Amino acid sequence: MSQPIKIGIVGVGKIVRDQHLPALANDGNFRLIAAASRHGKVDDIPNFPTIEAMLDAVAELEAVSLCMPPQFRYDAARTALEAKKHVFLEKPPGATVSEVEDLKVLAAKNGVSLFASWHSRYAPAVEAARGFLASTRLRSAAIVWKEDVRRWHPNQEWIWAPGGFGVFDPGINALSIATHILPAMFITSAVLDFPENRAAPVAAQVTFRTSNGLPVTMDLDWLQTGPQSWDILADTDAGKMVLSGGGSRLAIDGQIVHEEAEAEYPMLYRQFAEIVRSGASDVDLAPLQHVADAFMLGKRNVVEAFFD
Ligand code: NAP
Repeated sequence: MSQPIKIGIVGVGKIVRDQHLPALANDGNFRLIAAASRHGKVDDIPNFPTIEAMLDAVAELEAVSLCMPPQFRYDAARTALEAKKHVFLEKPPGATVSEVEDLKVLAAKNGVSLFASWHSRYAPAVEAARGFLASTRLRSAAIVWKEDVRRWHPNQEWIWAPGGFGVFDPGINALSIATHILPAMFITSAVLDFPENRAAPVAAQVTFRTSNGLPVTMDLDWLQTGPQSWDILADTDAGKMVLSGGGSRLAIDGQIVHEEAEAEYPMLYRQFAEIVRSGASDVDLAPLQHVADAFMLGKRNVVEAFFD
């Protein structure tokens, strides 16, 4: 194997601790050599308060993973790309579509790789669902993503702020799968429920049409207690497909046909290593574009205030 890529991590919070650190610790393609965060720390490596301080002090860094909330990612990405570092962007890759387009141009100009990571695309049954749908004729599809925000995002203020996307923060995971397995589609209507004390929606009903006229619906709800739903259902000529558990299980007409242990972040880092070594970038903006379109076309409903 070639030498490990020397990487730094920025924005040490929940997802870094839950997923990035374990994935990097087990991946011979990378060596984590520094971290930058205002409060968070990673044990046994040098820690810095800002990305600028980290890049100044650790010249041998070749790549960075940017794991802060999306509203604060662009400036850090720009700093890293201008310093000719390869950049891994957590999802969503930015707060707007055009800022990520700008980063793409900057990465190409500086001869480094940019990776807009979509972890849900690497869920274990997603490729099997894609293969199944490619082998039959789709009639309609429905995305049902219902979870309890108090359980999964307690006290995350940024998620309710402009650019935090509200319920579209998990919803964009559904869209990252849907845009990978379903035909191209576009939004025809949306209703977004905004709590009266928040700047981002707590629920959304979205309808899409595929280019050949098939209906796709998306139901997002952040107040679901009890069982949580992260499902994509498709009615096809070969039966009813249910991709459940955020992409981890595939069933056709009630029979489970694919189920495997989850390895999303190890696979994300494998893909990042591959694009760095082949001199490519991987930036698919389709999920982010759909979220932008939902905000652009959506009717805004004001609903009861939300408190953590
Ligand atoms: P988080 O813990 O709230 O934030 C990550 C870290 O970013 C914080 O600990 C904080 O570290 C830094 N940060 C917060 N506000 C900042 C600001 N204004 N400027 C600079 N840095 C700031 O969030 P998270 O759950 O890890 O999510 C981070 C990203 O990963 C989001 O885009 C999210 O969609 C994505 N993601 C999250 C999950 C999940 O399950 N939580 C899953 C997949 C992807 P310091 O205070 O130390 O600077």
